[in-house]
Amino acid sequence: MPWHLKQRLRSLRAQNHSVAERTPGRPFVIIGGGLAGGSAAATLREEGFAGPVVLLSREQGVPFGRPPLSKTYLRSEEDLDGWYVRPAGWYADHDVELRSGAVAVAVDPAGHTVTLASGEELAYEKVLIATGGRNRRLGGPGAGLPGIHYLRTKAECDAIKQAAMAGRRAVVVGMGFIGCEVVASLTQLGVDVTAVFPGKAPLDRVLGGQVGALIGAIHRANGVQFLPGHEVAAFEGTERLEAVVTASGRRIACDFAVVGLGIEPDVLPVAVEQENGILTDELCQASARDVYAAGDAANHLHPLFGRIRVEHYNNAEKQGAAAARAMLGSTASYDYVHSFWSDQYEHKIEYVGHADRWDEFVIRGSVEEGKLIGFYLADGIVRAAVGLDRGGDPELDLDGEMAACARLVAARAGPAAAVLADERTDLWALGKR
Ligand SMILES: Cc1cc2nc3c(=O)[nH]c(=O)nc-3n(C[C@H](O)[C@H](O)[C@H](O)COP(=O)(O)OP(=O)(O)OC[C@H]3O[C@@H](n4cnc5c(N)ncnc54)[C@H](O)[C@@H]3O)c2cc1C
Repeated sequence: MPWHLKQRLRSLRAQNHSVAERTPGRPFVIIGGGLAGGSAAATLREEGFAGPVVLLSREQGVPFGRPPLSKTYLRSEEDLDGWYVRPAGWYADHDVELRSGAVAVAVDPAGHTVTLASGEELAYEKVLIATGGRNRRLGGPGAGLPGIHYLRTKAECDAIKQAAMAGRRAVVVGMGFIGCEVVASLTQLGVDVTAVFPGKAPLDRVLGGQVGALIGAIHRANGVQFLPGHEVAAFEGTERLEAVVTASGRRIACDFAVVGLGIEPDVLPVAVEQENGILTDELCQASARDVYAAGDAANHLHPLFGRIRVEHYNNAEKQGAAAARAMLGSTASYDYVHSFWSDQYEHKIEYVGHADRWDEFVIRGSVEEGKLIGFYLADGIVRAAVGLDRGGDPELDLDGEMAACARLVAARAGPAAAVLADERTDLWALGKR
């Protein structure tokens, strides 16, 4: 949820904690000035922590949420200010030492130190690793040609914006969420887009074939050319990218390409257990004392879903906050029923829960109209639900259908498929049983 929607509540809370109240000591160090790191810094102060806080950020600027980079900001419809975790002046005002451009290269849990790329060694009381993710990159012939873009940072988005002139031709590689959103935005900007991706339909791995096919139909209706089941073998060009060549030998002439093949957790050397990110317990704590992790970099133990690592805005914001509270001694489990959203053209996808496998998919609503809620059930239990142009944001529309779906997931409800599919069934009542 963008900060301006919560601004009033936060400013009321923040008024109670002034710089004069600070106590000396070794700092709480947060590595990573993204959404999770920024949210943790804000929570420390808003929970009344008076000790020193250092926020190390490889990126320039203040922590912000990335969703507009593939949507409204990419299309020059809004600036990023509304997505700042806190306004630019908040950090100095609240005595949070935000060090832009500072890169941590190692953490030593035994010595309680963080080493920076500059050689500086920083002692910490507690450390939070919120280093996010790094884009998977394509190798092979021509992979280094100018005109091949990736998207994570504002600078990378600005480079795509410069390339995205109406009438140009782009190839987008990968049709996960970032790929789909970039395809939609480029198309809306008048760019002629071809999407190359390995699956049968966009997002089919996450949302399943039926929803994937509906999303595919939306893109095709907007004029996007699809090459499903294709992988990139080479990029061609003399001085800059001129064409993308697939493993099956298709050559797609283009002016630029955007590659969106997902991320890897961007974890630095630290002697804690790691597997697909930093392994944390239900309190966001890593396997070494006083080391915590949150956001895309954390592979956390969730009371409902088991061990998972997710790449969602809502998680980064809430887990950053939960980690901060845990650093302050809270013993509350982080049990947020995950949720995320995606905007493509005028269409909205909302998702709650987490299902990486399911044996039943139940639809409530209309496939023909493309307005539906789909339930993912495993062993008869609702694990997740997706809303396509229906349902509302579960974080904002607290009485809405997707919020009711989150309740179903939290309650481990196991209603019969026919009951779920029946529009007359009150989903809230179902979650209370
Ligand atoms: C283009 C785009 C659109 C998205 N849209 C949506 C959406 O619509 N809905 C949704 O739910 N999610 C969306 N997401 C995902 C969401 O933005 C991420 O889940 C969220 O940003 C994760 O936050 P984070 O703080 O864990 O990581 P990040 O935001 O990646 O922040 C990590 C920060 O740590 C810094 N860092 C890394 N290593 C070091 C180091 N060693 N020293 C110092 N700093 C370091 C990085 O430079 C970065 O600034 C989108 C992501 C992208 C890229």
